[in-house]
Amino acid sequence: MRCADDRGCLGGVIGFSWQRQRVLLLNATYEPLTVVSTRRAIVLTITGRAETVHEDEDHALAHSEQLVVPVPSVIRLRHFVRVPYRAQIPMTRAALMRRDANRCVYCGSRATTIDHVVPRSRGGANTWDNCVACCAPCNRRKADRLLSELGWSLNRAPVAPKGRHWRLLATVTDIDPVWEQYLAA
Ligand SMILES: [Zn+2]
Repeated sequence: MRCADDRGCLGGVIGFSWQRQRVLLLNATYEPLTVVSTRRAIVLTITGRAETVHEDEDHALAHSEQLVVPVPSVIRLRHFVRVPYRAQIPMTRAALMRRDANRCVYCGSRATTIDHVVPRSRGGANTWDNCVACCAPCNRRKADRLLSELGWSLNRAPVAPKGRHWRLLATVTDIDPVWEQYLAA
């Protein structure tokens, strides 16, 4: 099978979708940095800037005229890079659900929706400290009322999560299960 993109392509690819595949890039300290394309990951490894930590679970191979390389799932930079810390983690549904462990903050049952603690209709913001995971019944019951009007309370105030891996969790939708060990808090 040929790669669809011949320009700068390493050659053909066996057993996986070249375009879709993504590789988790770790710093030398194993801190997750970002997700890169498979091609970028392979270039980083064959040029010696990174080493493969985990190979693709389906044992996919990428080949050029000179070499065949296993497609990585996780790679690690050989030299530590200092990355400027960006405090703001974008709030996404997936990341919010993860912060609240997929549980309704009001009753503890499985969360399927997001609730604005202070309803948007009453000026509540779409931010980490005003959004919580919620089940559908609680969400319906709460409607556009304040917690004080319902006699409800939160066990703890919702806050924005901290740590670089949260940026990754917030922006990447396809999390490979192999990556989880590097994304734990
Ligand atoms: Zn609930």
